[in-house]
Amino acid sequence: MTTKELTCVVCPAGCRITVTLNDAGAIETIEGYTCLRGKTYAANEVTHPVRTLTSTVPVMTAEGKKLLPVRTDAGIPREKLFEAMKIVRATTVKAPVHTGDVLIADFIEPGTNLIACKDFE
Ligand code: SF4
Repeated sequence: MTTKELTCVVCPAGCRITVTLNDAGAIETIEGYTCLRGKTYAANEVTHPVRTLTSTVPVMTAEGKKLLPVRTDAGIPREKLFEAMKIVRATTVKAPVHTGDVLIADFIEPGTNLIACKDFE
């Protein structure tokens, strides 16, 4: 048996969650969550941790080069964050661009996109 202590980051309440795994690595119990979102977070965190990537990329506008905030629209596997950042660092966007625009479809994972988080005309 292994016990993992987590702090849920899904909402600001920050519940402390305890996950117990058996010797085969399967989840035996999850305790301490206040809602099902926390239970799901804890289960994913110990079996397949994912993160939403947030960063900035250069955007070329009529006023010159600015920085465009970007993020993934879903979590990507934690072990692929380094590969993802290499792609982000090599990305440049041309205005106009709007919040929610897909900059790179199927980014790292099928069905996950890199999207814009600000408007530049
Ligand atoms: S378990 Fe629910 S209430 Fe607690 S931090 Fe997570 S999302 Fe928030």
